[in-house]
Amino acid sequence: MEYITLNNGIKMPVLGYGVYQIPNTQTKECVLEALEVGYRLIDTAQYYGNERGVGDAIKASGIPRDEIFITTKLKSNHNVERLINQSLSDLQTDYIDLLLIHWVMGNDLATWRIMENAVHSGKVHAIGLSNFYGSAYDNIVKNAEILPAVNQIEHHVLRQNKSFHKILDKTETILEAWAPFGEGKAGLFTNPVIAKIASTYGKTTAQIMLCFYLQSGIVAIPKSIHKARMIENFDIFDFKLAEDDMKAIEELNQERDLFGWY
Ligand code: NAD
Repeated sequence: MEYITLNNGIKMPVLGYGVYQIPNTQTKECVLEALEVGYRLIDTAQYYGNERGVGDAIKASGIPRDEIFITTKLKSNHNVERLINQSLSDLQTDYIDLLLIHWVMGNDLATWRIMENAVHSGKVHAIGLSNFYGSAYDNIVKNAEILPAVNQIEHHVLRQNKSFHKILDKTETILEAWAPFGEGKAGLFTNPVIAKIASTYGKTTAQIMLCFYLQSGIVAIPKSIHKARMIENFDIFDFKLAEDDMKAIEELNQERDLFGWY
C-alpha cells in the first residue's frame, strides 16, 4: 500500500474501501475480504448504519489496529460528543483515524470545536469535512484551530473539481473522491476514451479511473461487494499513465454533478 501524508503529519492509504449501502449484516464479510485483498483504509459513516460490521471485521481480521485507517462521519450536529463515543463503541476501537462532518448541517463551527477537542483527547487522530464547498468550507478554514485534513466530495472523471482542488491545496487538505466511478452512472465504465486507454495498458476502465486519481494526488474509496472487483480495484500500483493519457482523461471533465446532492 502507498500512503499520502496529511497536513497534520499522519499517513493515510492512497486507496480505500467504501461501505456505503452495504447492510450491517453483510459488512463484516465484505470488509474482511477487502482487508484480505490488501485494503487498509475503510470508509464508513454513522449514517450508513454499518460501523459495527466494520469493527467486527477489523477485530476478526487479526490485523494490528494501527495498520488500519478508519474513517467515519458524523450524522448530526446534536450531541456530537455522544455520537463520537457511540462510533468508538460500534467500531470497537479506542480511536478514529479520521472523523468527518458528513455534510453541511448548520452550527458547523461549533461541531468543529468539539471535533478539535476529540483530537486533543486522543479519541480522533485527524478531522475533516465532507461535501463542504464555498462559504461553508471557508468558514471552517478561517476559524479552525486544526485545519481540515481531508474534504471528501463527489469526484469522478466527469466532475474533477478543478478550481476547488486548487483551493484545497492551499491548506494541503486532501481531496478524497466519493463515487470515484460515479456509481457507474453516465456510462462511465464503458466510456470510449477510457476504454481505449485501458486497452493500451491491458487494464480495465475501473483501474484506469483509479490510477488517474492516484496520479492526481486524490484518494479514492471505491465500493464493491464482489471480491473479484475488490481485487481489480486494488490492482493499480503496477503501472503509470502517460502524460497524454492523463490529459485525455482530464478533457472528459464537465464539472457534472451525477447525484444532484451537493
Ligand atoms: P462508486 O463510484 O464507488 O461505485 C460503486 C459501484 O460501482 C458498485 O456498487 C458496483 O456496482 C460498481 N463497481 C465497483 N467496482 C467495479 C468494477 N471494478 N467494475 C465494474 N463495476 C464496479 O460509488 P459509491 O459506493 O457511491 O462511492 C464509494 C464510497 O464513497 C462509498 O462506499 C462511501 O464510502 C463513500 N461515499 C461518501 C459519500 C459522502 O457523502 N461523503 C457519498 C457517497 C459515497
